[in-house]
Amino acid sequence: MHLDFTAEELGFREQVRAFIAREYPADVRAKQEAGEELLKQDFLEWHQILGRQGWSVPAWPVEYGGTGWTPTQRYIWGEELALADTVPIIAFSTGLVGPVIYTFGTPEQKARFLPDIVAGHTWWCQGYSEPGAGSDLAGLQTRAVRDGDHYVVNGQKTWTTLAQHADWGFFLVRTDATARKQAGISFLLIDMKSPGVTVRPIITLDGTHEVNEVWLENVRVPVENRVYEENKGWTCAKMLLAHERSGIANVARSKVALRELRQLAAQVGEGSGTLADEPVFRRKLTELEVDLLALEHTELRMLAAENAGKAPGVEVSMLKIRGTEVAQRINELSLEAVGSHGALRVRRALAYGAAAVAWPPAIGVADTYFNMRKTSIFGGSNEIQRNILAKAVLGL
Ligand SMILES: Cc1cc2nc3c(=O)[nH]c(=O)nc-3n(C[C@H](O)[C@H](O)[C@H](O)COP(=O)(O)OP(=O)(O)OC[C@H]3O[C@@H](n4cnc5c(N)ncnc54)[C@H](O)[C@@H]3O)c2cc1C
Repeated sequence: MHLDFTAEELGFREQVRAFIAREYPADVRAKQEAGEELLKQDFLEWHQILGRQGWSVPAWPVEYGGTGWTPTQRYIWGEELALADTVPIIAFSTGLVGPVIYTFGTPEQKARFLPDIVAGHTWWCQGYSEPGAGSDLAGLQTRAVRDGDHYVVNGQKTWTTLAQHADWGFFLVRTDATARKQAGISFLLIDMKSPGVTVRPIITLDGTHEVNEVWLENVRVPVENRVYEENKGWTCAKMLLAHERSGIANVARSKVALRELRQLAAQVGEGSGTLADEPVFRRKLTELEVDLLALEHTELRMLAAENAGKAPGVEVSMLKIRGTEVAQRINELSLEAVGSHGALRVRRALAYGAAAVAWPPAIGVADTYFNMRKTSIFGGSNEIQRNILAKAVLGL
């Protein structure tokens, strides 16, 4: 196993770093630095720049717009995006529904949907979870009944991330209520402007509108919008969940967060020095750094295996658990560092015109702490990932 980067790979890193520095939109950067809320167009602007460069879907097969990069090049690319703190490409399109369409879709579906996903012209949301079907996803109740060349869909989805911006959604619906749970599900692409689709906000602890309820009431969906065979949607769903968990360790983003935490601690007075020098805090920081390094090496080991032709397996569950735990510990320690200055909603208060806050470095720390609680729940909760590892890896 080789974990070192080659000279070519280091050259590639320089090339992509220069590209990001040159092309990243200055207006989006300014908003990020001011802590302003990012709008739909801010995300799509960067996506569209990458689309024009041919770099918006590196992992896809080349025939559909992929770059043909090796897994290591893709890793470097992801790392550089994180180090430059770029806004993410919203993965519901490029990382989730896109691969389902190019794997299971008809030629017409590929021609209709993939080019807009690559170019960053459409925004997608994921309609899987329901009030009674999260971890037990196969228990979903949303019904789709065939009526000529349409399905009539009725039901409620929940936690639908950024559905308020979505042009399209991919939904799991029950098309056979009599079959075994997994056997009666189909995968539908629904135009979010269809009559009968209602998106209602859920405001989360950090005061933001990121997730929604989506109600479907007699929504007519053309049969041609079903991907793969009727009642075989679970096959698409499973493939998509594996994609959702890969890359979820977010090592590079955690590295940046840890660097920021160090800078923050160096600004907090403690005794005659700063918090960064205080022994108990320093020990916690060092433990985090060691765990992050171990996680990075685990990810690199998996990358080496992938480069050698081995497909990523259930071990991605391990990356998901450790990656989210480390990220949440960084958030906890950041909140500890800012203490009472980290009062919630400071960012909101500024947006509403408050003249100043007690201590600017604390802006957003509490919001991030609360927002990041989601990471151990979505994409399959960490408890469920532990079940997967126990069964498939440990054979328990
Ligand atoms: C911020 C956020 C964004 C999301 N975005 C989307 C989205 O865009 N689209 C979408 O479809 N879904 C989305 N989800 C939903 C997410 O996938 C579910 O929340 C998740 O699968 C857990 O389901 P649940 O909330 O119904 O909890 P439940 O399944 O009810 O679980 C409750 C608790 O019990 C534990 N538990 C359940 N079963 C077991 C078991 N067998 N063994 C051990 N422990 C168990 C869970 O780990 C959890 O701690 C999002 C969730 C969040 C928080």
